[in-house]
Amino acid sequence: MQYLCDLSIEDLKQWLRNQGEQPFRAAQIFDWVYQKRAQSFADMTNLSKILRDKLSNHFAFPSISLLKVLESEDKETIKYLWELSDKSRVESVLILSDSRRTVCVSCQVGCPARCAFCASGKQGLMRCLSVAEIVEQVLHIDRRLAESGERVSHIVFMGMGEPMENYEAVVKAVAIFNHPAAFHISQRRITISTVGVVEGIGRLAEEQLHVNLVLSLHAPNQHIRKKIIPYARKYPLEEILLAMDAYAAKTKRDITYEYTLLSGINDQLEHANELAALLRGKQCTVNLIPYNPVEGLNLQRPEKEMIEQFRNRLESAGINTTWRYTKGKDIAAACGQLALQTGQTCSVEGD
Ligand code: SAH
Repeated sequence: MQYLCDLSIEDLKQWLRNQGEQPFRAAQIFDWVYQKRAQSFADMTNLSKILRDKLSNHFAFPSISLLKVLESEDKETIKYLWELSDKSRVESVLILSDSRRTVCVSCQVGCPARCAFCASGKQGLMRCLSVAEIVEQVLHIDRRLAESGERVSHIVFMGMGEPMENYEAVVKAVAIFNHPAAFHISQRRITISTVGVVEGIGRLAEEQLHVNLVLSLHAPNQHIRKKIIPYARKYPLEEILLAMDAYAAKTKRDITYEYTLLSGINDQLEHANELAALLRGKQCTVNLIPYNPVEGLNLQRPEKEMIEQFRNRLESAGINTTWRYTKGKDIAAACGQLALQTGQTCSVEGD
């Protein structure tokens, strides 16, 4: 049996044709699933009973179930822990800021990148998520938001996993997020964050997509980067930056570089100077993220003054910066933390 949310609208049209049904029904089915948020095929009342039966005989829905919801003290971040059909766990984070309703999705169970500061990669990669497992994270959260008349407005691939290492599923999920009959979220509101997989960045530039691409840079040079990001050994910084420039030129989008500040490792003024020199002349923003402590890791978040000095140095060198104070610290919002922390002891709360 296949999961319904694995299918693009083209896949569904093809399936309908194979069944001797009209392909235009695909848009109706998408509308039921993603706009009306139907919970079963029986709800899809403008489809014939025969088609509804065929659908329920062929497709399963949903593929993930909600295990736990945690809200941060400031109520601006809500974390969802999901259980997949093989009992593995992933998480999503809903970030509420002004009118934005941003969902940070996971694309893998665990992560192959194993960055020194990140909880997701602690145990390496378990497996890739299917399209349905990615899409349903947003669908379930959208359904919950609908109860208060709201909708998911932005999507970021910054949860567990490396999007470029689950490329096909991520691109297919993006198409469903973007499709007018599904979520209809503009590509400008969809962001993919990568540790820097050169072929993946090149491939994405060739797609007819205009999603935001963010590079997890985290260091001003290859030497420091290699120390905290094992993937840096495979992909030298120079090649990654060239691939990002090519993506920006092709899609006419500015580049954002993520920079997680780690005390004594990449947060000194000399690093800010070096970073400013590295990025000079680029249309870009550096998003500074103070390290969010992960249990068992011997790393420190820099003092606030250090972060401010670092930021001021970049700004005075003409580099645009944003400072993301790590939201939801009290609910362990950095990626992978909840899924690891709760292990198998998590209580069932239900959807
Ligand atoms: N693999 C992708 C996406 C997942 S990580 C990538 O590397 O970009 C997304 C972001 O989470 C990273 O840029 C990193 O800045 C942030 N992150 C992960 N663990 C963190 C931690 N402990 N503290 C602060 N930021 C963290």
